Amino acid sequence: MRISITSLVEGENTFHFNSLKEDWLKKLVEDLIHQGYQLKSPLIIDTNLTKVDPDFYLRGKLSCSVEQTCARCAENFNLKLDSNFEVALANVPSGKLRSPELTEESEELDINFFEGNEIDLTPIITEQFFLSIPYQSLCKPDCLGICQQCGANLNTKMCKCAEKKSVTPFSVLQEVKLFKQE
Ligand SMILES: [Zn+2]
Ligand SMILES: [Zn+2]
Repeated sequence: MRISITSLVEGENTFHFNSLKEDWLKKLVEDLIHQGYQLKSPLIIDTNLTKVDPDFYLRGKLSCSVEQTCARCAENFNLKLDSNFEVALANVPSGKLRSPELTEESEELDINFFEGNEIDLTPIITEQFFLSIPYQSLCKPDCLGICQQCGANLNTKMCKCAEKKSVTPFSVLQEVKLFKQE
């Protein structure tokens, strides 16, 4: 999705996108599905592109629901993403985009550079989607995980392994140590 900067008004420009309605966002969702992300709801993007000559600021919110595998219990669940993002955009003359100094500077200041008269939202939204996915997803904050011994999902049933666990060589050793200290 390319936004022509000449069509922008000074100040705030609001855009609302829904992957059910916009083809470019539908295509973006299809690409994410190809990469293994199961989106369970339309991808909604609310953005505010502010023009402050000569720069542009993109603020927005990304909402959707994506299937994740819990890092503790390995069950699939739908994770609701609702993330805000902010990107500074600076226009550079054509051909200058790949100069090494510019790359270094952009990393330090967290600025995205664009060439010409158009801002391409597609790579920005794709990047924001990846940034909003947590490194480790849990189905719920207090997920009990799976039993290391019998593999039971401890959220749905309590196994008997914990009772047996109390007598292990290590626990016996600990008792001996405590006894010696006294
Ligand atoms: Zn879980
Ligand atoms: Zn168990």
